[in-house]
Amino acid sequence: MARGQQKIQSQQKNAKRLNDKKKQEGHDQKAAAQKALTHVCTVCKAQMPDPKTHRQHFENKHPKLPLPDDLKDA
Ligand SMILES: [Zn+2]
Repeated sequence: MARGQQKIQSQQKNAKRLNDKKKQEGHDQKAAAQKALTHVCTVCKAQMPDPKTHRQHFENKHPKLPLPDDLKDA
């Protein structure tokens, strides 16, 4: 009886560990994806990997619009 109980407990522990790991990985992937395409053009919603690209895109595609503040230092 005691053995069966231990087995269940250890299974629960394993399940929890797996769950935590999954959560961690899911979070990392989400963060990585967000990091990869953080810069979304406010005008045409195109996604850019970095502010430099975003700025170039903005200057090329939307030259008549004012450059957003966060792109001025890019
Ligand atoms: Zn754009």
